[in-house]
Amino acid sequence: MLNDNEVRFVDLYAQYLALKEDIDLAIRSTIEQSAFIRSKSVDLFEESFSQVVGNKYCVSCANGTDALYIALKGLGIKPGDEVITTSHSWISTSETITQAGGKVVFCDTDDAFYTIDPKLISDKITKNTVGIIPVHLYGHPANMTEISYLAKKNSLWLIEDCAQSHLATHQNQTVGTFGEASTFSFYPGKNLGAMGDAGCLNTNNLELAKWAQLFARHGGKGVHSIEGINSRLDGIQAAILNVKLPYLKSWNDKRISIAKVYNDNLGSVEQLILPKVLPGNKHVYHLYVVRTKQRDQLKLFLEQNHIPTVINYPRILPLLPAYSYLGHIPEHFPISAKYQSEILSLPIYPEMPIDHALYVCEKIKEFFKR
Ligand SMILES: *Cc1c(COP(=O)(O)O)cnc(C)c1O
Repeated sequence: MLNDNEVRFVDLYAQYLALKEDIDLAIRSTIEQSAFIRSKSVDLFEESFSQVVGNKYCVSCANGTDALYIALKGLGIKPGDEVITTSHSWISTSETITQAGGKVVFCDTDDAFYTIDPKLISDKITKNTVGIIPVHLYGHPANMTEISYLAKKNSLWLIEDCAQSHLATHQNQTVGTFGEASTFSFYPGKNLGAMGDAGCLNTNNLELAKWAQLFARHGGKGVHSIEGINSRLDGIQAAILNVKLPYLKSWNDKRISIAKVYNDNLGSVEQLILPKVLPGNKHVYHLYVVRTKQRDQLKLFLEQNHIPTVINYPRILPLLPAYSYLGHIPEHFPISAKYQSEILSLPIYPEMPIDHALYVCEKIKEFFKR
């Protein structure tokens, strides 16, 4: 049983309860129709999701990692091709570059926003560079004006990793519509989450959409014009996502209002750096990440007061064992390497009671007053 007074980092069960009847019905009818794989629900979801984001095509797949892999393969990456991406993300962003046959080139983050620093990208471009993968980390759009300009100027493609940023906007343009392709994850805790793994790739390029569809489904059932992989959105997940999609915007708004409670109540704490928003951006707060030199002590203190927090992510990508072959040291990424020991994600989710957020603020202020 869930205890209502307990502060949670996220509460997926609360979201289920709010939509229980519709979700139960969606699951039951999928089972009744045995619509487990390619089904009307999948078609409907692809159609509605591309419409909501503002892309012509949506190709659903098994998860957000596959979406990146499929997009990279679809853009025709060849051995020796270099792809520039941020030093600070979840490993899907970079591991798929390698798996698709490319070479990962990491770039440090902006000192205010945790997203790739456009000022540093030019120095990373070589004659082998083919594309850039910006990540709208934590729900805050990367500076797509500058990144798109650089991509165009250097004839590079762009894949936006939108796994944490469903319906965030930059200069009133929804993220996922800036590049050749954009990738989304519907992992349960994301701003739009399934009840298992799910993902998709969006694009305005018909050829890429068609190729991605073939590739993700073994080169096409009965056709097999190419060798592909098996990466599908299953019928039950699609049916659940169809129930949830109409609420995405209002859930984002609720995240924004929880963020406002944090902003309003923690703004006076000098030792704490709150998330900043690039002018012209709409941040959708997949995560609310603060920074402090006393991070570990604060995390422990909050834990003792039954407030769960998370570190997203404890080590920047270039310093993970998986990338030791690149020989990077923290000094290569001075900003993100410094922040990795200072960042802390506070609880945030659409159904979070305001008094829980206020309690978190109260305990944080108490910690810094000691
Ligand atoms: C969650 C996430 C992914 C991968 O999504 P999965 O559906 O878990 O495979 C990729 N990139 C980022 C930034 C993510 O947060």
